[in-house]
Amino acid sequence: MKLETLRDAIIYFSDATRCHEYLVANRWPNGVECPRCGSANVLFLEKYNRWHCREKHDAPQFTLKTGTVMEDSAIRLEKWLPAFWLLANCKNGISSYELHRAIGVTQKSAWFMLHRIRLAMNMEPEVKMGGNGGAVESDETFVGGNPKNMHASRRLAIQKKRSEVADWKASHKHSEKIAVMGLLDRESRQIRAKVVPNVKRETLQNAILNQVERGSKVYTDNASSYMNLAAQEYIHETVTHVQEYVRGEVHTNGLENFWSLLKRTLRGTYVAVEPFHLDGYVAEQVFRYNNRTTKDNPLNDADRFALAVSQISGKRLTYADLTGKVEETEVPF
Ligand SMILES: [Zn+2]
Repeated sequence: MKLETLRDAIIYFSDATRCHEYLVANRWPNGVECPRCGSANVLFLEKYNRWHCREKHDAPQFTLKTGTVMEDSAIRLEKWLPAFWLLANCKNGISSYELHRAIGVTQKSAWFMLHRIRLAMNMEPEVKMGGNGGAVESDETFVGGNPKNMHASRRLAIQKKRSEVADWKASHKHSEKIAVMGLLDRESRQIRAKVVPNVKRETLQNAILNQVERGSKVYTDNASSYMNLAAQEYIHETVTHVQEYVRGEVHTNGLENFWSLLKRTLRGTYVAVEPFHLDGYVAEQVFRYNNRTTKDNPLNDADRFALAVSQISGKRLTYADLTGKVEETEVPF
């Protein structure tokens, strides 16, 4: 059966055996390997729906969920896989309430599932942007931070954290907001975006050094954080947003468009996003943007779904990570 639509996916994955076969092929295209030691010397125990690794080590048994974002989840693959499909393909994301109603899990489970799917979608890039004199846009935006949407205890914890961090003063102008920095490669039309602790020169320029090949063109606005970027061996060109937004090729409109997509999703679908979760929402939006259907790259919904599912291994997010450790996981302002 060819998977094209959400309807196809729901029908196809309503069968546990098909889910199993799909995920085995997706996760281990070259044959099943033990997630703990990498050995292919494994035995499938059909009765228990798990494998046994014949190498000598602790915890020799594993399931399809072991070593993935779904580890320890009691929710069946028949629900997980349609959830991956929905988040990979819904342009404006999907809220935990919508997912809860769509697949029949509690809203709390849906919320936790969505965060784990976002973690899978958070793909670490392998190569730098730009190169061969290519051009990269760099820009920042400020998101959310409406404390009245948060629980009182969480709000207090955040305020306490804020007061402890020296950087806080530097960003007092945007005191309720979180900074997100983005880079857009003009050639590949790919975006990288992450929450940053501040928009100081050191933060932004280090991100560029880490992500962009030297010798590339970098287009920014004329914020002081980008001053002397050319000294780092970039061809740095700026637009002054007071007078102009575009000077020939020099503009950051690609990223401006992305920021408005991100904000539309946050406002329309997610409404109240707590600061320490924002990176996940950004990663979700980046995933859909970078894998959108274009003339040169005619991906369909099944391709995006397969790509998201292929990223589940080696990542872990526990409920405590998400909810219990405010002090450690919060974005340091
Ligand atoms: Zn093993």
